Amino acid sequence: MQYISTRGQSEPVTFSKAVATGLAPDGGLYLPETMPDLSAKLPEWENLGYADLCFAFMRELATDMDEATLRKLVDASYTRFTHDKIAPLVPLADDLHVLELFHGPTLAFKDFALQLVGNLYEEQIHQSGDFINVLGATSGDTGSAAIHGLLGKDGVNIFILYPDGRISPLQERQMTTTGADNVFPIAITGSFDDAQRIVKDLFGDLALKQRYRLSAINSINLARILAQCVYYVYARFQLPSEQRDKIEFIVPTGNFGNILAGWMAAQMGLLPGASFRVATNQNDILYRLFTTGLYEVTDVAPSLAPSMDIQVASNFERFLYYLEGQDSARVREVMKAFRETGRHQFEGFAAEAFSASRTDDAGIRKIIKDVYSKYGYVCDPHTACGFVERDPSRTSIVLSTASPAKFPDTITEAIGIEPTHPTLEETKSLDIVKHKLPADEAAIRAFIEQHAQTDGD
Ligand SMILES: *Cc1c(COP(=O)(O)O)cnc(C)c1O
Repeated sequence: MQYISTRGQSEPVTFSKAVATGLAPDGGLYLPETMPDLSAKLPEWENLGYADLCFAFMRELATDMDEATLRKLVDASYTRFTHDKIAPLVPLADDLHVLELFHGPTLAFKDFALQLVGNLYEEQIHQSGDFINVLGATSGDTGSAAIHGLLGKDGVNIFILYPDGRISPLQERQMTTTGADNVFPIAITGSFDDAQRIVKDLFGDLALKQRYRLSAINSINLARILAQCVYYVYARFQLPSEQRDKIEFIVPTGNFGNILAGWMAAQMGLLPGASFRVATNQNDILYRLFTTGLYEVTDVAPSLAPSMDIQVASNFERFLYYLEGQDSARVREVMKAFRETGRHQFEGFAAEAFSASRTDDAGIRKIIKDVYSKYGYVCDPHTACGFVERDPSRTSIVLSTASPAKFPDTITEAIGIEPTHPTLEETKSLDIVKHKLPADEAAIRAFIEQHAQTDGD
């Protein structure tokens, strides 16, 4: 299996190369050259445990990797989950279920992909003898999931910038109490936008980038999308057989990464009859797209579901490639027009692939309260966006992307009960190690030069 760029101007590459590269050289995102039909595998995959199913799936896609190595990496990636099912499907009613994706080390669904990506990176470092330095900016979840994917790994250091005092104390503890000496949380005196701008500028310095082999772990990495296909298939197998072919997956989404993974699993024949609903918060570029065909950037208004506060949905380009009939020249045109004008109106938009809903902060508070009083279930503010609307003729599966314990203030305000979690309680007794620096590119550069990994061991 080879992987091609959505923009069609880069060479096809292997899975391993696509994972190591991230963004394709032509600025596009990697996709399978042809979508494999895996439908014949369903009967033999039905009774597999999570890691076994992940391995069975990944071996069809990571065809350049040695199978024993892949097996080892996949197995290692799901050992730090605290629920024996890894991704349990919790029934709220006969036709309404929650797929809990928050039993990993940072209590958010990003662990499913980033635990595996961390192990894939480490393997590539071992094989090549090279080193890397991962650099990123975070407003919360991504940074801690990336840190927990890479902590203690040989040949890689990770630098994560975040705005000092502007992320939740729990999220900060998750990043700063690991005790790992290859982890460098950098608290800058500035905003998240400052952090992003500095990271972007540092990546733009090609000499620095090459010298320290700087790498981003962002949501467009091919391995992240593929790793996320697995829990959709696993969720379907947890339903009684008569409900399996009429599922509506409801996915709280920001960058369109999580829901795209489900859609791709469906294209591979693994989710017969499934439909998908995009659930946004008030930053609703995807809701507007799927209801009107207009893809248009607006300002971001911070919400109670901060991990979905995005301006553009970076993984949308992958869906666009299929929407445009796999015509990469069209993808380039649309992306260019969108970059230049901040908007694109699709003609005859094929919106039937996804339905969509949005909710604002008042809606999130009300849903947390209603879901609790109706089902006795406490959901986090991101997951709450998944309870707005559903198709009554289908069995709904709402993907729960984070543990409510990560957002104690919002939950307490909504239902008067403070959620806790042992993983988070544990961090309260640990020492915080963070590096406070000014929001200044030169200062961050000097820090990285001083602390970067520079050899393979
Ligand atoms: C990242 C994140 C999302 C959004 O996921 P996308 O892949 O960007 O769609 C939703 N909820 C939580 C808790 C997250 O961390």
